[in-house]
This record gives sequence, structure tokens and C-alpha cells, in this order.
Amino acid sequence: MTTTANAILTIDLDAVVANYDLLRTLLGNTECAAVVKADAYGLGVGRIAPALAAAGCDTFFVATVDEGSMLKTVLRSRWPGAEVHVLGGATPGTKRALAGDGLIPSLNSLEEIDAWKRLQAKWPTPLPVDIHIDTGMRRLGLPPNELATVVSNPERLTGLHIRYLMSHLACADEHDHPMNQEQLAQFRAALAIMPTAKAAFCNSAGIFLGNDYHFDLARPGIALYGANPLSSSPNPMTQVIALKGKILQVRVVDTPQTVGYGATYQFAGPARIATVGVGYADGFLRSLSNVGFGHVGDVRVPIVGRVSMDLIALDVSSVPENEAYPGAFIELIGPHNPVDNVARLAGTIGYEVLTRMGSRFHRQYVGGP
Ligand SMILES: *Cc1c(COP(=O)(O)O)cnc(C)c1O
Repeated sequence: MTTTANAILTIDLDAVVANYDLLRTLLGNTECAAVVKADAYGLGVGRIAPALAAAGCDTFFVATVDEGSMLKTVLRSRWPGAEVHVLGGATPGTKRALAGDGLIPSLNSLEEIDAWKRLQAKWPTPLPVDIHIDTGMRRLGLPPNELATVVSNPERLTGLHIRYLMSHLACADEHDHPMNQEQLAQFRAALAIMPTAKAAFCNSAGIFLGNDYHFDLARPGIALYGANPLSSSPNPMTQVIALKGKILQVRVVDTPQTVGYGATYQFAGPARIATVGVGYADGFLRSLSNVGFGHVGDVRVPIVGRVSMDLIALDVSSVPENEAYPGAFIELIGPHNPVDNVARLAGTIGYEVLTRMGSRFHRQYVGGP
């Protein structure tokens, strides 16, 4: 392969669509949106969103107004009717941009509700909104005292065009966590104020909690991108990404030599090491120092020494010389070592590994429309 890239990130759009289809099957009559915040969890919203829209997804969620405006631009020509919801709220300074771009904000407080009503009163067309109710995550959404105010004064919502009442689960990845049922009960109680409003409750993991949790619309993110939404069951999703890094140099070493900053790894005997052009500046987490590994073919090659900004070293002693040479690639994430595995070794979660994928990687999209 001829490429100037030090690393190639392959993103399989057909796998994203396969994951979307699996979730849709689990959801039955419940609609399935797609959460594409943070540049579609680092994988490129400009390619992921059209692939999902072509597969029939017409509702998207992002975190910020800027992400929403960008996504509208991506979808405008072919899917002008697709809904873009913004989870971060209608905070001061954002309302005109939200309304002007046709974005649907989550209103997270009575203050945001009142301000939006004032904007709606002078706007010529309906400006749909979601109302986010905090049932236990305690980050965003109407807290219990504000919800109580709405319950006793339902007219506080008059004049709004409510698209969904929503809430977010804190522990859905743990199937038997008592918090799931507590949040479900709180959400149902909140829905009783507006029995005709549509409801959106589940993230990826929530979908696997069963029909009771599904309501009208689900908001999966991570499962679309192939990481395991469940913390203690095998991954039901299809892997989406693969990362391979280029060998820049190979050198022969022997004990008592060491490799890398801090000389944290000492060779026990003669070895060959390959220096690969991927480092923590590319989101290849420094906590993988001396614990991560790659693969050459089926052979596992451990990371030796510290991950540095642009480089890692892997012990390729067990690989024939004609398979590990400058210009050859080593699999760092892929079939042998999926995202969740890398995350576990790095002491984090698949979400963080995905969203940190570096801007220096050459991205190669396969499949898709
Ligand atoms: C990020 C997010 C989601 C998607 O969560 P996943 O665990 O990635 O499926 C859904 N809802 C809200 C409110 C979120 O912030």
C-alpha cells in the first residue's frame, strides 16, 4: 500500500447500518433515532449521518448547537425533513441560532421553558422542543422541584410545541441495577402530566432492558459504532472500526537495554522492536504503555515502554522479518483487539477510545451509500 499516512482508521459504514438495523429489530414499533454528537463519536458525522439517513433514520441527536447546525448542512439537500435535536439545552445566547437553523432543543429548566415561550410568541412558525426531565442522572433536565411546579401549573407549558418528553438512564448498562426501575417509575409519573406527549427514554443500553423502557423513540449512540453497550454480556454489535499503524523503523536490541521515555521497559534478551507512528496525540492513550498490544497477522505483539506523543514501540521478535519492516502496518484496533478490549487495557471505556481518534489518522470509509 502506498500512503503517506502513519496510521489508517477504517470505518465500516455497512457495519453502522447493520447495528442500526439490529436496534430497530429490538425496538419493534418504537422509532430509532441516532445520537451523532461529538462528530458521531469521533467517526465523522459527515459520513455516518448520511449512511444512517439512507438506511431510514430521520431523527438525530447532537450535544451542541454548532454540531446541530453542521449536521443540518450535511442533511439539508437530500433529507431536508430530518429532525436534529440538541441535548445541551437552549442556554442564553443559543436560542436564535437554534430557531434559525430549525434545531429542536431539549429544554432543561423552567427558565429555559419560559425564555423559549417568549421566543415562540414572536416567531411566525412552530418551534418544536423536547422537555428533558431529570429522573436520576442529575446533570441536565428539569429537577424534581421544577417538575412539581409544572405538575401543579400545567399551563407553564402552554404555547410550546413539544416533540418529546425525554429522560436519560444512568445505569442502563447494568441490567439489574435498581436505578433502572426507579428512573422508569419517575419517568412514567412525569409522563402522566402530558399523556398525549411522545416519550423518548433509552440510550443504547436501555434498549436491551426490554419493551417497558422503549416508549416512542430511542436514542442510541455507542451501539451504532460497534462498542458493547452492555457491561457484563458479550457484545451483540458488529465492529465498525479498525486502526493500523505504520512501522517507521525496526531495530535489534538486547538486555540490559531499555526502550522509550523513563526507560520503563528493559529487554530480557535479544529482541526486535518496531517503532510505529501512533501516539497519545492521536488518542492512543498513554495508559496503554507496557500493557497494550497489536497484531501482525495472528501474532500478538506487545507494546513495550511508554506510549509517547507520536510513537509506540512493539516487540515484534516473534514475527518473521519479512512481515515487520518499515512501511508495513500493525493492527492496533481490529478483529483481534476490538475497541472495548483496548479501552479495558487503557482503564477507560469504548466511548473515550472512539471519541479521541486522532485528526492525523487517514480515514478510510468502506461500504455505505
Ligand atoms: C449520549 C446520550 C445518548 C446516547 O447514549 P449511548 O450510551 O451512547 O447510547 C442518549 N441520550 C442522551 C441524553 C445522551 O447524552
